[in-house]
Amino acid sequence: MRRPEDLTFRERIYVPEIIRGLFVTGGYFWRNLFLHILHQIGLARDKSAMITVQYPEEYIAYGPGYRGSHRLTLKDDGSVRCTACFLCATACPARCINIEAGEHPDDSVEKYPVHYEIDTLRCIYCGMCVEACPCDAIRMDTAIHPMISGYSREDFIEDKRVLMDRSRFMEENGTDSLMDEMLSRYRDQGVAK
Ligand code: SF4
Ligand code: SF4
Repeated sequence: MRRPEDLTFRERIYVPEIIRGLFVTGGYFWRNLFLHILHQIGLARDKSAMITVQYPEEYIAYGPGYRGSHRLTLKDDGSVRCTACFLCATACPARCINIEAGEHPDDSVEKYPVHYEIDTLRCIYCGMCVEACPCDAIRMDTAIHPMISGYSREDFIEDKRVLMDRSRFMEENGTDSLMDEMLSRYRDQGVAK
């Protein structure tokens, strides 16, 4: 990253750079407008123009490396894989994971999370929790993004049930179905058509 003292005189007085930025933005605007008009009359179809996706009614599928909303993975019997070791919460730079550990009734399992919550308003989606987990108990491979609407802070806190349900839903219906489910929830809330 460049330090302030490395800026040239032209960059320090801002105005030429602002004008240059306007030319770049304007250049893209007119290029796209021109190409879209040509496409409408059947010309220059081999040249692509930028489009705006009308999210959430339309969406482009995210790539496999996309860090989406979290999920807690499950054991074969459907119980939570997490052993409440707190490594994810310790690694989390946003301090947004809250875990309450409890003794597991099965003696072969030391602990389990009685409560496991992620405050998605504080989460920065860095993936450190996933990296820190020693037993693959938390993943961000859901291909969905965090909530976009809510009426209170509690609406944005994802608890153990929500995080486990994502894994169940993915197992039963595939990854894409999570996006469909999320969009149908937005429609119910009146924030999507
Ligand atoms: S993605 Fe980053 S900020 Fe979010 S819960 Fe995980 S470690 Fe914390
Ligand atoms: S999700 Fe993984 S790192 Fe976090 S408490 Fe559970 S087992 Fe430990």
